[in-house]
Amino acid sequence: MSTPNLLTDPRTRAAYAEGAGIYRIVPSAVAIPADVAELAALVRWAVETRTPLIPRGAGSGMPGGNVGAGVLVDLSRGFPDLTVDPHTRLARAGASVTWGQVTEAARPYGLRLPPDPSSGAFATSGGMVATNAAGPRSIRYGSVRRWVEALEVVEANGETRTLRRGGGTRYPVPDTRDLQNFPKTRKNSSGYALDRFAESSDELDLLIGSEGTLAFVTAVHWRLDPILPDLAGVALGFSDLAALAEAVPFLVALNPSAIELLDASLLRLIPNAPVHAVLLLVEFERETSVAARGVVGDAVRGLKQHVTHVETAVDRAGLERLWDVRRLASPALARLPPSQRSLQVIEDGCVPLERLGEYIAGLRSAAERHDVPVAIFGHAGDGHVHVNALPDITRKGWEERLTLLFNDVLDVVLRLGGVPAGEHGAGRLRAGVLERFYGSAVMGVFRDVKRAYDPLSILNPGVIIPAADWAPLAALKVGEDAAAIPDDIAARLRDVERTAGWATPKLELAR
Ligand SMILES: Cc1cc2nc3c(=O)[nH]c(=O)nc-3n(C[C@H](O)[C@H](O)[C@H](O)COP(=O)(O)OP(=O)(O)OC[C@H]3O[C@@H](n4cnc5c(N)ncnc54)[C@H](O)[C@@H]3O)c2cc1C
Repeated sequence: MSTPNLLTDPRTRAAYAEGAGIYRIVPSAVAIPADVAELAALVRWAVETRTPLIPRGAGSGMPGGNVGAGVLVDLSRGFPDLTVDPHTRLARAGASVTWGQVTEAARPYGLRLPPDPSSGAFATSGGMVATNAAGPRSIRYGSVRRWVEALEVVEANGETRTLRRGGGTRYPVPDTRDLQNFPKTRKNSSGYALDRFAESSDELDLLIGSEGTLAFVTAVHWRLDPILPDLAGVALGFSDLAALAEAVPFLVALNPSAIELLDASLLRLIPNAPVHAVLLLVEFERETSVAARGVVGDAVRGLKQHVTHVETAVDRAGLERLWDVRRLASPALARLPPSQRSLQVIEDGCVPLERLGEYIAGLRSAAERHDVPVAIFGHAGDGHVHVNALPDITRKGWEERLTLLFNDVLDVVLRLGGVPAGEHGAGRLRAGVLERFYGSAVMGVFRDVKRAYDPLSILNPGVIIPAADWAPLAALKVGEDAAAIPDDIAARLRDVERTAGWATPKLELAR
C-alpha cells in the first residue's frame, strides 16, 4: 500500500480549518486528490490506518460537515470535467464543477439546472448533492435531489460504483410503516432521507443528502430543464406576521417560481430599505409574457386586503431591480461592527407552510428572551427561513445566550412539526438533535445505514451520527477558545467569509 500525498505543514492545515458556519477545527493533514484513482488509493490507505477522512468541496456548507480533525479531502480541484448533452438534457459534471459552471454550459442550449442555490457561483456538484442543496426556485423545482440522474462514487472501502435512478438498491428499503413520524415539510436536509428512499427504492436517494458520511461523490449526472421564456413578479409588504398564514399558501397555489421573505429584522440592517414587518418577493415564470403578467395581477388582487405595499415588475430587468434589496442583505451583514459576529446556529429550520408565521414569531421572541439579535430571511414558499444570530462577542455570557437560543429555537421547530435543516444539512452542529426530531427507532436505522456503508466510520465521523462527546457550540471560530492559527490566515479566512469568497483555492490562503 502506497502512502498518499498528504500536506501536513501548519499553514496549509490552518487554511482548511474553517468553512462557512461557526467552526474552526485544524485538520491533521490535507489531501487534494487529482483523480478517482488517487482518491480510491487514499480511501484504501485510510481504511488500513483507520484514519478519518473529511470530504470537502468549496467549504461553503454551514453546519460543519466540511471541517474536522482527520484528513481533509479537498475535492474542489481534481474533478473538473463537464459535458452537456442537449439531446438527452443531461450534464455529467465532476464533483468539483460548480452550479454556475453547469448553468453556463447549459444556457446556449436553452437549458439549466433549476434549483439555484445563492451559493451557486462556488458550491460544487459534490457539495450540492451531499447536502441536497436548494434555492429560491426550489418552491417550484424542488431541491437538487429531483435533478440527479446518476452518481459516480468512491465507497468507504475504496471501490468505485455508479448509481443510477431506477437502478434499485443493495441496501434494504425501510418499511414505510416505520416512517409514519417522519416530519412532512416541503424541504428536508436533516439526516438520511429514508422517506425518499422508501418511496423510490433507489439507493441514490440514500446517498443524496448524506453529507459525505457514506461515500465520496466523484461525478454527478444532472438532469437539465428548459429555461422558461418569460417572467414577472411583485414585491408585497405586510404590516403583521399573521397575514402570512393566508398569503403564502394563496401565492403557492398560483405556482410561483420563488417566494422570498425578508423580515423586519433584516430590512432594518439594509440602508434605505422599505420598512415592513415582512416583505415578500414573488417571481412567476411562464411560457408567455401575457401569462406572467396575468398571474401577477391575480396575486395582487387576491391579497389586496392584506398588503400595505405593492410594487410589480413585468420583465427580467424590472424583477432584478425589485430583488436588489435581497442582494443588499449580505453586504449589510458584512458591514456589522467587528464585535457583532454573524453566526449560523439556527440558520436552516423548515416548518410546514401553514406554520411559517408562528415560526417567525417564535424566532423573534426567543431572540428577544436571550438578548441575541437575529436577521431572518429565506424561502417563504417552502416554510423555510434562514436566521443569522448576531451576538456581540465582546459581551460577557454571549456563548451561554447563544446556546439557550439554539435549544429554544429547536424546541419551536419541533413543536411546529418542522425539521432543523431544510437545505444545509445536519453536519456536526445538528447531529445530536436528530433523535429529538425522528425518535430512537429512526435514529437506529440511521446508525444501521452508516454501519452498512462505512463500518469503520472512516467517512466524516461525527456528522449526521453524533460523536459520543457531541458539543454543538464548541470548537468555534470566534471567542477566546478558538483554535490558534496564524493571524494572517485567520484574517484571510475572515475575508473569505465576509466576501463569500469560497471559490478561492485554500492553498492560496496559506501562501
Ligand atoms: C453565502 C452563502 C449562500 C448560500 N446559499 C445557499 C442556498 O441558497 N442553498 C443551499 O442549499 N445552500 C446554500 N449555502 C450553503 C452551501 O453553499 C451549500 O451547502 C453547498 O451545497 C455546499 O457546497 P460546497 O461545495 O461548498 O460543499 P462543502 O461545504 O465543502 O461540503 C458540504 C458537505 O458536503 C460534503 N461533501 C462535499 N463534497 C463532497 C463530495 N464530493 N462527496 C461527498 N461529500 C461531499 C462535505 O463533507 C460536507 O458535509 C450557502 C452558503 C453560503 C456561504
